[in-house]
Amino acid sequence: SGSAAPSDDFLDRHDGLTHVHSGKVRDLYATETGHLVMVAGDRISAYDHVLPTPIPDKGRILTAMTVWWFDQLSGLVDNHLVSYDDELIPESWRGRALLCTRLDMIPVEAVARGYLAGSGLSEYRAGGAVCGVPLPPGLVDGSRLPAPIFTPATKAAVGEHDENVSFEVVARQIGRERADELRELTLSIYTRAAEIAAERDILLADTKFEFGLNPSSGSMVLADEVLTPDSSRFWPAETYQPGRTQPSFDKQYVRDWLTSPASGWDRGSDLPPPPLPDEVAAATRQRYVEAYERLTGLRFSDWLAPRG
Ligand code: ATP
Ligand code: MG
Repeated sequence: SGSAAPSDDFLDRHDGLTHVHSGKVRDLYATETGHLVMVAGDRISAYDHVLPTPIPDKGRILTAMTVWWFDQLSGLVDNHLVSYDDELIPESWRGRALLCTRLDMIPVEAVARGYLAGSGLSEYRAGGAVCGVPLPPGLVDGSRLPAPIFTPATKAAVGEHDENVSFEVVARQIGRERADELRELTLSIYTRAAEIAAERDILLADTKFEFGLNPSSGSMVLADEVLTPDSSRFWPAETYQPGRTQPSFDKQYVRDWLTSPASGWDRGSDLPPPPLPDEVAAATRQRYVEAYERLTGLRFSDWLAPRG
């Protein structure tokens, strides 16, 4: 499995599905029932490149994780999941596709941060604040923040980076009441998720949510994938040490290989990264499986797969 949109031939055999969007690793289809099918592929990105080698089962692992989180958070927020095992989902996508309610998406990446890393760290170093939220002096790479902060970003066009914006920009864009609701919901979900992860000795450094409005009720609903390694930074608590880049659960292995002499790749060049050797892809898969199992306490081998 990969994540390229399926051939016309495939869609002819599933004539209820209309392709509506493809991102870096996922594809979106509309059903004739007015729902969406969100399909996760096995592609992985590192250092801003989508790697030429897929990670086996990555799409299924991240889908299983999203489903688990939706369940964990169900008392806190409504979500768009209708079914993860519906007959509208083609057999070959079983386990990596979700049937969802189609929402009017709020065009904001709702990011919460409890620790300083990535673009948050860069902004802090440049001006002592992130998205207009002032932070105390003396923080370093990986520092835990005094309290979680809401650091929204606008969704960028394909190939461009999302842009961090202040709360005021969001309030102007979607209205102050909606913006307040977005911030409160984002921070309360982050806080709850971070508590759950901490019980498994996992630090949830930051995460990105997307919300939409239910077209009939107008209420705010949690959408997209949630709390996966593609949308979040998860750090193993046992190696946490502020003042350096924290090893990431899922991608550290592949990043380390890419920057090792074995890969022959120069990160500073314009060249795309080389294919991963089978054993590097297999070891990376194992990291994703471990992250899923450690977080959920479930076994990945029990998750849905195509039949036969
Ligand atoms: P990237 O690969 O950088 O994430 P992307 O965001 O365009 O690019 P995906 O994340 O693969 O690509 O696309 C998922 C799309 O589906 C996003 O545009 C997201 O806002 C949208 N989406 C998610 N859930 C729903 C929903 N319930 N209703 C409508 N749109 C949704
Ligand atoms: Mg996306």
